Amino acid sequence: MSSKKITIALAGNPNSGKTTLFNILTGARQHVGNYPGVTVERKEGRIKHDGYDIKIIDLPGTYGLTAYSPDELVARNVLLEEELDLVVDVVDASNLERNLYLTMQLKELEIPMVLAVNMADYAEANGITINYDLLAQLIGIPVVRVVATKGEGLDDLLDLITHKEKENIPEKTVRYKIEIEEAIARIEEMLNSDLNLEIFDAVKKDSSRLEKYPSRWLAIKLLEEDKEVTEKAQSISKMAGLLDQVKKDRESIELDAGDDLENLIAEGRYAYIRGACQEAVKIVELNKASKTERIDKVLLNRITGLPIFFFVMWLLFQLTFALGNPIVEYLEDLVALAGVAASNALSPGLLNSLISDGIIGGVGGVVVFLPVILLLFLGIAILEATGYMSRAAFLMDKIMHKVGLHGKSFVPMLIGFGCTIPAIMATRTLENPKDRLVTMLVTPLMSCGAKLPVYTLLIAAFFPNHMAGNILFSIYIIGILLALIMAKVFRTWLVPGESEPFVMELPVYRMPKLKSVAIQMWERAWLYLRKAGTIILAFAIVVWALFTFPMVDSQGMNYASATEQMENSYAGRLGKTIEPVIAPIGFEWKTGVALIAGFAAKEIVVSTMATLYSMGDADSVLEGGTAEAKSFAQLTREQSGFNQLTAFVLMLFILIYVPCMATIAVIKNETNSWRWPIFTIGYTVSLAWVVCFVVYQGGMFLGIGV
Ligand code: GDP
Ligand code: MG
Repeated sequence: MSSKKITIALAGNPNSGKTTLFNILTGARQHVGNYPGVTVERKEGRIKHDGYDIKIIDLPGTYGLTAYSPDELVARNVLLEEELDLVVDVVDASNLERNLYLTMQLKELEIPMVLAVNMADYAEANGITINYDLLAQLIGIPVVRVVATKGEGLDDLLDLITHKEKENIPEKTVRYKIEIEEAIARIEEMLNSDLNLEIFDAVKKDSSRLEKYPSRWLAIKLLEEDKEVTEKAQSISKMAGLLDQVKKDRESIELDAGDDLENLIAEGRYAYIRGACQEAVKIVELNKASKTERIDKVLLNRITGLPIFFFVMWLLFQLTFALGNPIVEYLEDLVALAGVAASNALSPGLLNSLISDGIIGGVGGVVVFLPVILLLFLGIAILEATGYMSRAAFLMDKIMHKVGLHGKSFVPMLIGFGCTIPAIMATRTLENPKDRLVTMLVTPLMSCGAKLPVYTLLIAAFFPNHMAGNILFSIYIIGILLALIMAKVFRTWLVPGESEPFVMELPVYRMPKLKSVAIQMWERAWLYLRKAGTIILAFAIVVWALFTFPMVDSQGMNYASATEQMENSYAGRLGKTIEPVIAPIGFEWKTGVALIAGFAAKEIVVSTMATLYSMGDADSVLEGGTAEAKSFAQLTREQSGFNQLTAFVLMLFILIYVPCMATIAVIKNETNSWRWPIFTIGYTVSLAWVVCFVVYQGGMFLGIGV
């Protein structure tokens, strides 16, 4: 019977035990030579196993595949140019994180691989325990425990080598920051286009065979400015356009991050490895732990981790309110004064009302909340920049698995506290399409920055100061809980499927750079202001008009009061039409109008209420009062007819019901169909109603906050 021939290579860091393993596997059947042109020793040997004739090449030890040293170049060329069936990556169990760096690079070459975790004896004697099966699941490579010096694990290793099918090992790839991934995708697409197939043909003739390399690997190497690959590409004139694109992408990413792209990619690999090891490796003694490891010992601790996370979130919302609201109140006074000034300066009439109630009231009512928005965005930017956001995702991993997602989905959800649009886009880091869809569907339940003004207004108007931060925090927590529940529901009925273990990247902790945090905060704040100046201004005018017209009744008679006029306006009629639907959750027609306007953007709920209440206030002026500057909170208290219960229920409704129009458009883009955005609208409105119904009726029954 003729045996099947396969060729494998042993790769690994220097001193990981490759040669020891090679010797024990091949015994005397060795051949030692040199690689052509360099004085690097080339060792080959043979072994038979299970009907296979295995040729083994012992590669020079390397830490990476960047082609910096002759050893690295030789190893890389063998890996790229020779017809290998498999690579055995030999790693030192006592120094796993460092050794796995090469593993991640080998993985990018897309050659089948087996991980031999060597020196397991030494590692175990030093208090290191490795969960080999979990590690295999996490990094997507079959793993085997080996002690080369004692010959332990050799049969298992050979079985893995000859059983080519990777049983139950999922596909895994290191994913980098989203901007890098987008650049990789763009370059890959250009590489794979017809034009470039021609280029590959041209390259073939000089036997460098660029086309054989995986396009993802090539794209990464081009972005990293790898010397060999870049030179090869530069020698092909048709690749000029692609190289331009690479340069543009690299420069913009480096500018944003303030760091070298090569470093960013290396960091991405280490973050991935750290995440995998945090889960699969237990180390008893941490005598030479790095700063990041020491901090993680506390922040990722099984007992202290989650409480610390929730404390951090609680603190964020306390600070947002405590520091931001006094400034908001001050700005509100200014807006109120401006409204009165405008009203007094202009002669009474339509224009007066449009400017003082519609524009100053509506847009001003939104702009005043800028301080709280800024503080929230600042907090989120700092959490992201320090690396703590990734820890939050890591901590939530176990809980997320219970609802059929994994911790990675939690990052977009947290970003959603700022704005849902970047959050939906951040779901691109999720490889599994089902995970991605479910995450996209539940992310709108995270309370975004635009909803914050509504909460701030209602809390300031109806709740005492000492409760304010906690009420705000509770809204955010309810959002997270509902998102988890809905994820479970969707994972059970809508897109069922198992969730698999996943590496949660853990970047090193860093001091946030003031400049980049400030830039990020301002970019988001600017979006908020621009929105106030455009879409919200437009809606404020529309809402004002809908409330102002018709000005007379069907007989052409003036209404007795502004309130009566408002009730009979177009908006009033619309509100009255939907009132029966929202009455069971405690809202009357005015709130209904504000909620309908909020479909466009959540801030519009506030601007609508502002317009409404200042128009309503005009009545009391007519009845003998003087036009005095009232703060928005004061107006709300006087005009809304809310109590604590209805205010809270309204916050809940705002939290849950429909994402804004822009988010709907992004969901449409990302899912490439109208199905999911429409579904999102439908389920969020129904959920909002049901939750509010339960809370309102329950609160009424128990007499809480009424
Ligand atoms: P290479 O540089 O990767 O070829 O590593 P070597 O095979 O030369 O091994 C480096 C050192 O590690 C040698 O002193 C080996 O005896 C030792 N070594 C290799 N494998 C093991 C093992 O499984 N356990 C222990 N305790 N030592 C090992
Ligand atoms: Mg050696």
